[in-house]
Amino acid sequence: MEAATVAVWGDILSDVRKEVGETRFNLWFKNTIAIRVSEGALTIGVPSGFMAEWLESHYQTLLAKLASARLGARTAVKVVVDGELFRAKRREESRAKEELLEEAAPREKLGVEARRFTLDNFVVGPCNSVAYAAALKVVEAPGEVYNPLFIHGGVGLGKTHLLVAIANALRGKGRASAAEYVSAEGFTNRFLFALRNGTLDAFRAGYRRAKTLIIDDVHFLASKPATQDEFLSTFNSLSREGCQIVMASDSHPKLIGKLKETLVTRFLSGMVAKLEKPGYATRREIFSRKAADRNLRLADEVADFVAKRIKGSIREIEGAVNTLAAYATLAKSPIDMATAAEALKGLIEGGSRPVRLPEVEAVVTAYSGLSEGDLRSARRTRPVSQARHLAMYLARSLGGFSYEEIGNHFGGRNHSSVVSAVEKVAGQVNEDAQFAREVAALKAEFGL
Ligand code: ADP
Ligand code: MG
Repeated sequence: MEAATVAVWGDILSDVRKEVGETRFNLWFKNTIAIRVSEGALTIGVPSGFMAEWLESHYQTLLAKLASARLGARTAVKVVVDGELFRAKRREESRAKEELLEEAAPREKLGVEARRFTLDNFVVGPCNSVAYAAALKVVEAPGEVYNPLFIHGGVGLGKTHLLVAIANALRGKGRASAAEYVSAEGFTNRFLFALRNGTLDAFRAGYRRAKTLIIDDVHFLASKPATQDEFLSTFNSLSREGCQIVMASDSHPKLIGKLKETLVTRFLSGMVAKLEKPGYATRREIFSRKAADRNLRLADEVADFVAKRIKGSIREIEGAVNTLAAYATLAKSPIDMATAAEALKGLIEGGSRPVRLPEVEAVVTAYSGLSEGDLRSARRTRPVSQARHLAMYLARSLGGFSYEEIGNHFGGRNHSSVVSAVEKVAGQVNEDAQFAREVAALKAEFGL
């Protein structure tokens, strides 16, 4: 279009602004361009069909009047949709929607909280060494060896820690956009949002940019067929590009259920590693490392105590560290066993399995060669009494049963005879090292 045309449209626009006021001008005229002037007609371009119609029906007379004044007698104004303006408007809209999208479902930010998840501070034991080794390999050679890497295990066993640690390590290698971490829930929310708002292209482009896509808690996709399809196509498209995919779930792909067979097959096509519950030595190591990180001063036996008694997840071990840290701020000296036991009472009662009386009986009958009937009977021969007393002692010290409960269970004995039986065994444990070892071995049978 000619410069003169542009200039005259500029003049007409300033006349329009005076006539219609700022608000309406911004709404209807700001985004217009002059296209051409020819034979008594001025053609202008607008971004959409709707605007063209609106201008023609509401402002045609005014525009014709103002154009005629500038260009000479009887100039009509024609309004058309301009392709370039149209595309610019679309871009603007989709940018606005993307911004809205970010607001509605912000990406998981690897913030302060997540930075503490590193491969260095992940304690490795028999329960997690396979998954850990696979994570190291993924960081070393993304997309090359274990692809996809699928990690599964119960709550609080370190899935998110490993996944975020992989993302952190890849980012640490200097490729900022190299790894994208998202929970399956975040993926689902953003997918549904994009679907509703017609921004699927932007949504897809966002994930397909990643060199490594890390998606947590994929069991969340169960029973969500549309999201599963979308994830499958993201998965396939990344796979074709040789990108690394890492996933975590609370169960093995085959056991997630309500998951399309094609997805299950994909999930199984690389490396599947399970996180088991940590054993005693690993629990002790995790506790000690986390306590040391917090500069906790603890009596030596405390680590043993925690490792023996808190056997659920690693999150529970962290709970114990947090609780002890709170006590430590109040105490001047290192936390001793008694204080630790008191502090952790809630966690231990809630978290570890209580010993039941039939279990006590089972252990003692196996040890003594007697039967449950013998233990509950009125017989007072020496071997029977001894075994019965031992059972009462174990029930008291491991299960915390009351003397009444114990007396009732073992043949309706009264309170004081249970007390004296328990004390007798306790005394023997103190005096007789061999017996103490046997009792310790029996206690170990309970796996507490
Ligand atoms: P999940 O995602 O499997 O439910 P998380 O990764 O959130 O479990 O782990 C729970 C907590 O336990 C986190 O604070 C994490 O740092 C910690 N944790 C888990 N495994 C380990 C480990 N092997 N070494 C150190 N900390 C761990
Ligand atoms: Mg998790």
